[in-house]
Amino acid sequence: MAEIKIPENVRDILKRLEDAGFAAYVAGGAVRDSLQGETPGDWDVCTSARPEEVQRLFSGERVVPTGLKHGTVTVVTGEKKGAGRDDGGTDSVEVTTFRRESGYSDRRHPDQVFFVRNVEEDLARRDFTVNAMAYSPKRGLCDPFGGRGDLEAGILRCVGEAGRRFEEDPLRILRALRFRAVRGFRPEEKTERALRQRYESLKEVSQERITAEMQKLMCGRYTAAVLDEYRDVFGCLIPELVPMFGFEQYSPYHNRDVWHHTLAAVEDIPPVPVLRMTMLLHDIAKPVVFILDDNGRGRFVGHPQRGAEMAEQILRRMRFPNQIVRQIVRLIRFHDVKLKPRRPEVRRMLSLLGEEGFEDLLAVKHADACGKYEKYIGEAEAKNEALRKCAQEILRDGDCLSVGQLAVDGEDLIRAGVPEGPEIGRILQELLDGVMDDTLKNEKTALIGAVKARMG
Ligand code: ATP
Ligand code: MG
Repeated sequence: MAEIKIPENVRDILKRLEDAGFAAYVAGGAVRDSLQGETPGDWDVCTSARPEEVQRLFSGERVVPTGLKHGTVTVVTGEKKGAGRDDGGTDSVEVTTFRRESGYSDRRHPDQVFFVRNVEEDLARRDFTVNAMAYSPKRGLCDPFGGRGDLEAGILRCVGEAGRRFEEDPLRILRALRFRAVRGFRPEEKTERALRQRYESLKEVSQERITAEMQKLMCGRYTAAVLDEYRDVFGCLIPELVPMFGFEQYSPYHNRDVWHHTLAAVEDIPPVPVLRMTMLLHDIAKPVVFILDDNGRGRFVGHPQRGAEMAEQILRRMRFPNQIVRQIVRLIRFHDVKLKPRRPEVRRMLSLLGEEGFEDLLAVKHADACGKYEKYIGEAEAKNEALRKCAQEILRDGDCLSVGQLAVDGEDLIRAGVPEGPEIGRILQELLDGVMDDTLKNEKTALIGAVKARMG
């Protein structure tokens, strides 16, 4: 197994704590990732020093009392907070006092935090053995629950009794699935049984915590497999998914039911939360709008629009940030739009989605095709290529794609006799549509002429 190479600023924090007579370790995800030969995302320090003592010890630096009640102080060792360092660390490091937690009766925060004397007690509160290791250059690896062995075997095991740990904080159930989706760890038998028995208590956990884990879970290498294997859990979190399970499509395009088509699409798209969530929800309305026509063929008329509405509801309920909701909802609305690689159509899409949004839509279309019969994948790729080329030409030529790029503005319209008010915006949009469709030239005289003709 790999060495644990600690970034210099973190090493320095450990040393200063130790020199002042406290025990100090890096713990949790950083140790797990290092032992697997990966670069950790963040380095968390735990120590026997109390928060006030940490604050005092680092009073020369910027010290942010992030969560004093829970024992957490952030030590900022560089200029840019949160910025990456050359040696794989980050400039702000959370330093947390060894602690235990009592129950989580509100399913959000521990009722009470008790500071404790030794690192073993702190590690005992952590969720899984692979996450319950600490390391210090001076004291070596502290691994009271066999985390290293489990890590080597790729096993996810609760620290202590699984049922009780999931009862304390049901979010751990979703965390288990997240570690499975992202890292491929398999829950051992008791952990597996306990999570299958208790997943309904996830309903008691706050949406913010669920969604934070969900976003990570959706971006794993094994996400599709996890969604399928634990579909009951996801059906509990998002009940709208349930009708998709096993829903036959009776379609000449599809060799899979709606759910398995969805999973194939999730698997194909790059691991970015917006895109992965888009594919998970893109066909959510199919079971709702389904009709079987006279030829025995399944029809899903209006499923993109209806799906966009359902997705908006789901994502808002899950407290996804507005900006992300908007992006996903738009991609779902247009996922099935038939686009020809002709400038007017592509301009309208680019104008609506922006350059990045357009690229996302192509990724969505590719993934959607991957969930169908083989032969449609090649077809979709050729179509995407033509669309991409058309978009590049439009952007290269600087074609007009926004009201701001028109040769006239609101002032010009007022001078031409349009009354001030919301009508101005509507007319500018109409002019833009005309220009994008090549029915109007983007020149002042032509545009003003069109406005005057419109006013009669
Ligand atoms: P990541 O690589 O995503 O940051 P992580 O393991 O560091 O994974 P965090 O959510 O950052 O996950 O948590 C840091 C550590 O805190 C974990 O490794 C684990 O020891 C502990 N932990 C986090 N959440 C819980 C929880 N709900 N119950 C018990 N321990 C937890
Ligand atoms: Mg972490």
